[in-house]
Amino acid sequence: RTKSEGRGGYCFYEAEMDERIEARRALSTDLRGALDRNEFLLHFQPIVTTDGRVVCFETLVRWRHPTRGFVSPAEFIPLAEETGIIIPMGEWILRQACTIATEWPSDISVAVNLSPIQFRHSDLPLLVRSALRDSGLAAPRLELEITESVFLEATPAIKATLAELREMGVSLSLDDFGTGYSSLSYLRRLAFNKIKIDQSFVKDLPHEQSGAAIVRAIIDLATSLKMTVIAEGVETEAQRRCLLNLGCHELQGYLFSRPVPAKEAEALASRQGLRHEKIHAA
Ligand code: C2E
Ligand code: MG
Ligand code: MG
Ligand code: MG
Repeated sequence: RTKSEGRGGYCFYEAEMDERIEARRALSTDLRGALDRNEFLLHFQPIVTTDGRVVCFETLVRWRHPTRGFVSPAEFIPLAEETGIIIPMGEWILRQACTIATEWPSDISVAVNLSPIQFRHSDLPLLVRSALRDSGLAAPRLELEITESVFLEATPAIKATLAELREMGVSLSLDDFGTGYSSLSYLRRLAFNKIKIDQSFVKDLPHEQSGAAIVRAIIDLATSLKMTVIAEGVETEAQRRCLLNLGCHELQGYLFSRPVPAKEAEALASRQGLRHEKIHAA
C-alpha cells in the first residue's frame, strides 16, 4: 500500500476496489456450481394488450444464493457472460421456459431473453430447434428478446442467425429499444417483429414533453413498419393512459403484475382462459 501514503482517500478507494474485486470473484465461483445445485428459477411477468388480456409472459431468471438470498440478474448476468456460464445457463432457461409455456393456453406465448454471448459463441438455431422439439412448444409461441447492443456489430453471421430463427417461425423482439444506436429501418431489415421501448422513456411519462415526443416517434415509425410496440416498466395508471393515447400496442410493468413464479403465472393464464378475465381492462 505504498501508493496510499499521505492520501487517506486514495487508500480507502483502493481497499474498496479490492473488496469489490474479491466479492465478484467469490460470486463467480458460486455461480459456477449454481446450475448443478439447482439454484436458478424462473419468474414470469405478463405482457398485456391494450384491453388488458395477457398475450405473453417474459421469462426472468432468478438466482437463489444459499447464503446471500436472491441475487439480482443485473449483478449475475454480466458475471455469467464474462465467465461463459451464460451458455449452459441460457440453454437451461430456454428449455425450461418452453416446457413451462406448454402448460398455458395456446394463445399465450413466452418471451426469453438472450445474451449477445449466446449469439457469438453457440449454435443458437440448433438450440432453439431442439428446445422446441423436446418441449413440443409451437415455434410462433416463442419470442426471443435481444438487446439493441447485439447490433452494434451486426456481422453477416449474426444476420444469418436472425434470418434462420425467423424462418423457423419464432418471433424476434428488440429489447431496451432507445438505449443503443440502431435505426428502426435497419431493424426492419433484420426482420424484428416487435420492439420493446426501454423503461427509462416510460418513467417520465406523461409529464415529460420530450419523452412523450420520442415515444410517439418510435411508435409511429414502428407501426408503419408493421412492428408491434411494447412499453416496458409501466407503473402508473397515468403512464398506461398516455401510452394508449400514443398508440402503443402492448404493455408490461408493475401496474399489471410483478414477475411471478411459474405456478402463479399458470394460474393467471388458466383463469383468463376460463373466464376471459382481464387485468386492468380499459
Ligand atoms: P429486461 O429484459 O429489460 O427485463 C425487464 C426488467 O424490468 C426486469 O428486471 C423486470 O423485473 C423489470 N421490471 C418489470 N416491470 C417493471 C416496472 O414496472 N418497473 C421497474 N422499475 N422495473 C420493472 P430483472 O428481472 O431484474 O432483469 C433485469 C435484466 O436482466 C433484464 O432486463 C435482462 O436484461 C436480464 N435478464 C433477466 N433474465 C434473464 C435471462 O433469463 N437471460 C438473460 N440473458 N438475461 C436476463
Ligand atoms: Mg427482456
Ligand atoms: Mg428491457
Ligand atoms: Mg433491461
